[in-house]
Amino acid sequence: MIAFLNADCTLRQKADIVTLIEREGLRVHVDRIEGTEIIGVVGKDPGRLAAVIAAMPGVREVRRMSLPYALVSLDYHPERTVVKVGRARFGGGKPVVIAGPCAVESEAQIQRTARIVAERGALMLRGGAFKPRTSPYSFQGLGAEGLRLLADAGKATGLPVVTEVVDSDDVGLVAEHADMLQVGARNMQNFSLLRAVGRQARPVLLKRGMMATIEEFLLAAEYVLEGGNPLVVLCERGIRTFERATRNTLDIAAIPYLKERTHLPVIADPSHACGVRSLVIPLARAAIAAGADGLIVEVHPRPEEALSDGPQALRPDDFARMMAEIGLGGPRPEA
Ligand code: PEP
Ligand code: MN
Repeated sequence: MIAFLNADCTLRQKADIVTLIEREGLRVHVDRIEGTEIIGVVGKDPGRLAAVIAAMPGVREVRRMSLPYALVSLDYHPERTVVKVGRARFGGGKPVVIAGPCAVESEAQIQRTARIVAERGALMLRGGAFKPRTSPYSFQGLGAEGLRLLADAGKATGLPVVTEVVDSDDVGLVAEHADMLQVGARNMQNFSLLRAVGRQARPVLLKRGMMATIEEFLLAAEYVLEGGNPLVVLCERGIRTFERATRNTLDIAAIPYLKERTHLPVIADPSHACGVRSLVIPLARAAIAAGADGLIVEVHPRPEEALSDGPQALRPDDFARMMAEIGLGGPRPEA
């Protein structure tokens, strides 16, 4: 629910409105919509206060909202959020490409991949240090050592880095090394992790759960914003359907649908969406055509030797071709 204030609403009147809302166990979110100051009311069933607030001095109008989320909603916050990480501006108009291996495997591998993707126009480096693997016998990542190697490769190439955090206890450690924290598909509804990344200051890359509806995805982002962190980038990475030809099914419609409902930037992950190298570039083009604010793709100098997700990793030449096909090819612009 949103209360639109009169232009001459006094500080005293505003304080009375806020006190009433908070006394009812709800939260306030003060913002501006089209030049008008508003008080957003967030929490369980805020509509019950509509009539009382509408009658208070200083209030011009109260609008109820039927959406279950508020802080992420475009109605609530019509100005689009731009998430800045180094030179990358998610939602800033030009698509941002994050690239790198599925997992950090060695110093040589991550340094080499970082150079390859930086030279070909990526603005951020990815690489998993804590890997959420389906099988406990698969490579689990290098952990804290992987974080250090990733951060070093980022510094060597001038690229900010993003890596996944799988456990709330590791949020501080990961935030020390990474410029952006990824919450992966398998953890999209790990509510203690969502709250933990909401309490820290690094931007968050939130991936859609493979079984999550768009509403559940937006509610997961709402947890992070509600925790105090407004810097969230959403990532459509494919959902699980009856189709087995591809690893997942890229929900292209989710991209424009999300952009109609939320002010948060939306990117796509064509690598995990299909799991097949030859399909990554067409899906990357489709996501950009559908309005994505960027992409996150897996690149490996020698995919046949990759310890995870080799079949979907782009080779260096493929990555250059992808960048050219989405109109971002050519030499790296000067900082
Ligand atoms: C990843 O990006 O490495 C990853 C595991 O992705 P997802 O959580 O989308 O499966
Ligand atoms: Mn992967």
